Amino acid sequence: MILLDGKATAAAIKAQIAAEVEQMVASGRKRPHLTAILVGEDGASKTYVANKEKACAAAGFTSEVVRMPADTTEERLLQEVARLNADPDVDGFIVQLPLPGHINESRVIEAIDPRKDVDGFHPENVGRMVLGLDSFVSATPYGIVALLDHYGIETKGKHCVVLGRSNIVGRPIANLLSQKAQPGDCTVTICHSRTKDIASYTREADIIIAALGVPEFLKGDMVKDGVVVVDVGITRVADSSEKGYHLVGDVAFDEVAPKSSYITPVPGGVGPMTIVSLLKNTLKAASKLLSY
Ligand code: NAP
Repeated sequence: MILLDGKATAAAIKAQIAAEVEQMVASGRKRPHLTAILVGEDGASKTYVANKEKACAAAGFTSEVVRMPADTTEERLLQEVARLNADPDVDGFIVQLPLPGHINESRVIEAIDPRKDVDGFHPENVGRMVLGLDSFVSATPYGIVALLDHYGIETKGKHCVVLGRSNIVGRPIANLLSQKAQPGDCTVTICHSRTKDIASYTREADIIIAALGVPEFLKGDMVKDGVVVVDVGITRVADSSEKGYHLVGDVAFDEVAPKSSYITPVPGGVGPMTIVSLLKNTLKAASKLLSY
């Protein structure tokens, strides 16, 4: 079993990005700038945004967090999105999800300029990604593909089972791995909460991407020997530690790892790859490398 070390892989990619940024600055250009809008006080969202700020600093980007109270109106948030769309100093920005229930997330995402949509959630970017055209690919699927690529994992002709069909993970990773590309060229099955007998699919899988948010859902008896397992799940499980919780993935690691050829840990797998992929998108936005 080989551990797919997202932390080390992301650190190596971040160092490459930092070197590129210093070259940009040396040639008289400004540092890439990422802004995050954070609405409300959700603990996990605050942690994610803090980690993104830290990663920006490590890569030589400038960044800013626009903090808005939980009772912010949709109209006020849309005004902020319009302001960032128009600000030439902002190369890319994200609206940290989830938003409070009274705000329509789709309306907010659709208001973002697709050329600044470094989360890759705007329908224009999603549509372009599905068509295999140049786009911002959302950070988690982009990070998973980069991790498989970094370890030289053969995907061509493999059966990949994706557990979960969300717009931010399941659907886009299923699409990317089915495309004519490397990594890609997989035969993909998507499972979700209405799938009957999920184990009958996972036992046939060469590659499993688990993105359910159900702690330790994938057990040892649900996989075949030699499987490649990517665990996207992050659930905070309360404990008596100082932090008050620890992170648990969607895979029962101790049971599944001995049967796997490659497997990601949680934490230290997909999480760091997600953040570094956001940096890659922001660098692309700052370099004006998008072809549309
Ligand atoms: P989501 O929007 O809640 O989607 C979960 C998906 O899993 C849905 O398609 C749901 O099916 C399916 N599902 C849930 N319980 C199931 C069950 N018991 N059996 C079969 N299918 C089930 O979640 P998400 O945003 O995709 O995130 C998934 C997990 O990844 C979460 O733990 C999240 O925290 C984590 N995550 C991690 C990163 C990272 O950087 N590492 C990034 C994003 C998300 P239905 O569609 O039928 O409801």
